Amino acid sequence: MLETFSSPAPVPLNQSIEASIQIRNLNFHYGEGDLFKQVLFDINLDVYPGQIVILTGPSGSGKTTLLTLIGALRTIQEGSLKVLGQELRSLHPKQLVQIRKNIGFIFQAHNLFHSLTARQNVMMSTDLYPNDFHNVAPASRAAEILGQLGLAERVDYKPHALSGGQKQRVAIARALVNRPKLILADEPTAALDKKSGRDVVTLMQKMAKEENITILMVTHDNRILDVADRIINLVDGNLESDNVVNTDVTNDARTFML
Ligand code: ADP
Ligand code: MG
Repeated sequence: MLETFSSPAPVPLNQSIEASIQIRNLNFHYGEGDLFKQVLFDINLDVYPGQIVILTGPSGSGKTTLLTLIGALRTIQEGSLKVLGQELRSLHPKQLVQIRKNIGFIFQAHNLFHSLTARQNVMMSTDLYPNDFHNVAPASRAAEILGQLGLAERVDYKPHALSGGQKQRVAIARALVNRPKLILADEPTAALDKKSGRDVVTLMQKMAKEENITILMVTHDNRILDVADRIINLVDGNLESDNVVNTDVTNDARTFML
């Protein structure tokens, strides 16, 4: 059930009707010569502000590759990819760094700094952070978001003193603290128990709806599929299905997915 993709007329940045992500005829391969391997085939996709889109698909189908392309972490080879109104193709590395500042990445918890507390880890990514941890504004903002994620009692703990789920929540706080316009998450709840996973997606959902943030999330966690406005499925590098779901049809969508 592929949607037909119409090209919206160009509009100035910050107008809510502009797609947060607009992908046209995107192909991507790794390697050259004997090692050439195409992993994304003619991807077309529009995602709008405030939408929560869940990306599913078998292991190796290209989900992480697609997420890193959208996140300006890889170079576009063929096709067009616009993020927050900016065409990424042929941007200079410095410009890609600017784009990334508007994006919150939630990948793995493993890349926390072990010598820093939870709060300091979160402060490292605030746009207010200058060069010390005594700066009041980022310190209180970091503590606030940690509190929203249930870590109020843990702000001054270092990663070794936190459980796997707590570490993952610090990584999530770090991605959310700048109130990015776009959040890209790769299996954000995989390491969490049911309640922590639910708390995390509830906070993300609240941010998406209240602040018009776009969320694209890879997950195999069918406990959280109900937060999706839309579920897209990638198989062998092809966008196989794209289903708009809402609370009325969530159960049908679940059945479709499983
Ligand atoms: P998914 O996240 O859906 O599991 P990936 O995007 O990680 O899929 O990988 C898609 C395909 O690309 C897989 O076949 C994987 O082996 C291959 N691949 C991923 N990263 C690289 C890389 N850096 N170099 C070569 N091949 C890669
Ligand atoms: Mg992956």
